Amino acid sequence: MRDISLNQAFLAAIGLILACTLALGLSLLGAYHRDLRDSEQSLARISAFRDVLIAASRISAERGPTNAALGLERGANDPAIARLSAFRQSSDEAIARIASGPALGPAVEGLRSRLAKARREVDALLAQPLAARSRDGIEQAIFGMFSAYDATRPVVDTAMTDLLASDHALVGEALIARMVSELRDYAGRLGSYVVIAIARGEPISGANRAAFEQTRGRVLQLWDVVGARLAAHPSPAVWDAQRSVTREFFDAGLKLIEETDRRLRNPGGGDTPESFTNAIVPSFAPIERLRDAFVDAAIARLSDASSQARTALIFASAVTALILGVVVVLLLASRNFLFRPLMLAREHVIDFAEGRLAQPIEPRGQREMRHLFQALATLRTRLVEREQLDIERSRLTAELRLQADTDGLTGVLNRGALERAVVQLAGMPEAPSSIGLILLDLDHFKAVNDQHGHTAGDSALRLSAGRLRGVLREEDIVARFGGEEFAIVVPDAGAARLAEIAERLRRAIEDKPFPLEDGGVITLTASLGIARVATEGDIWPALLKAADGALYEAKRQGRNRVVTWRAAG
Ligand code: GH3
Ligand code: MG
Ligand code: MG
Repeated sequence: MRDISLNQAFLAAIGLILACTLALGLSLLGAYHRDLRDSEQSLARISAFRDVLIAASRISAERGPTNAALGLERGANDPAIARLSAFRQSSDEAIARIASGPALGPAVEGLRSRLAKARREVDALLAQPLAARSRDGIEQAIFGMFSAYDATRPVVDTAMTDLLASDHALVGEALIARMVSELRDYAGRLGSYVVIAIARGEPISGANRAAFEQTRGRVLQLWDVVGARLAAHPSPAVWDAQRSVTREFFDAGLKLIEETDRRLRNPGGGDTPESFTNAIVPSFAPIERLRDAFVDAAIARLSDASSQARTALIFASAVTALILGVVVVLLLASRNFLFRPLMLAREHVIDFAEGRLAQPIEPRGQREMRHLFQALATLRTRLVEREQLDIERSRLTAELRLQADTDGLTGVLNRGALERAVVQLAGMPEAPSSIGLILLDLDHFKAVNDQHGHTAGDSALRLSAGRLRGVLREEDIVARFGGEEFAIVVPDAGAARLAEIAERLRRAIEDKPFPLEDGGVITLTASLGIARVATEGDIWPALLKAADGALYEAKRQGRNRVVTWRAAG
């Protein structure tokens, strides 16, 4: 019963340890898994954000070929129209890529319809011969394309909100990427204002002048902010792109815009929308490259974080599995090599304590456990030896006690044993109410020795003891009292019965002659004295004294008789 509960406790402990290890491992893995999922989500969202910025900048870029085409006569297989179509297709593809996200849906729809409207206005103008296109119409068409870009802002906002919801730490990078994207658009717009002025054949003026100056101010302001933020950027590709923007746009492109603007104030300049567009558009490309390099660096960083998170998850899974494996192996090993042998050793010790030594101890286990079982085997051997010694000693003790109690010649009790037996009998809780003692002395025994030798006397003594025993009950006690004298104790017998027993004893000696070795026989008689006392206190001296007195009286009256002691009076 106890074994089972100990075993169950051990199993429960194993289960608990395993469960704790598992829980610990799973919570750790859960954390690593969340890291991985978060970084993958951030990666997916920043990629989506990049796609949105690309779509926005394609719409900005579409203005280049639009402006150029608006300033050109339309002819068959017109390369300007083909270029415009290619740019539009590129915008549409970029928009199609971002349209998949459900959150972006309405904003993208808004963008599409604004873009379609702007393109319709452009196409309506392009359908007319160059001379028939009104200057206001061209301006309106270009503004329409501006507003198509403006319609990308809600899309960018939504994508950015989405990105920041998954990873707040990306706010700085998202803002810069957006500013670079805006910078690209504002740069393009500066060019467009110049194109409008070229198409009108007059300097940038009125509302357009204010918008032009404002846009120029924004471009410089954005570049200040972006430049300051990018100064500490770790990616060399970003620095390269930043230097290209400074060189190709701010040093060359912006200068071209400003110079063209100046030229327009003095009539007679040879600029056309197409020539200006072809000259200015390439200077915008580094801004897009900067945006791409910047966003790519962020994506690379997130991608690194994501693969680190994946590695960490794989590593943590492997370590958790390893720990679990080790724990299981340790627990099973401790059960097999420690717990079970200890339980078995315990069984053995209990067996020893309860005296079950039959089952041999088999050696088992390694090192300490083997020593334990060897020690148990040694202990068992010693216990078995001791048990045998105990048995031998008890046998010897019993033999010695028997020898000490027995008379060597006749085999009946000796005087000491008789005395002890009487004291013991008298001291028993259910002691007989009275104890009788018969003393028997062979008559003229000295003569037997004298006439037939001491050996014959011994033989007669042995035979006498046998005859006395033969006429007594089991519970009566016979002892050789010394020399040729015997004592018989009869518990709980009345006076008459005692006398009767004594008479039987006397006759047992007298009735049959005793054989001699030489073939002859001798006859013997005995004198007997009887005493009887009530069982109380120290009865032996009184009993002995009385019986002895009666025996003496029997001798005195002439021997071969029974005399019962009667107290004086
Ligand atoms: P009574 O009738 O007065 O008893 O005469 P008795 O000769 O029997 O008495 P007494 O006491 O004078 O002698 C006892 C004799 O018993 C002495 C001794 O030789 C003999 N005897 C005592 N013990 C032994 C014994 O162990 N073996 C033999 N063979 N004789 C013994
Ligand atoms: Mg005698
Ligand atoms: Mg005698």
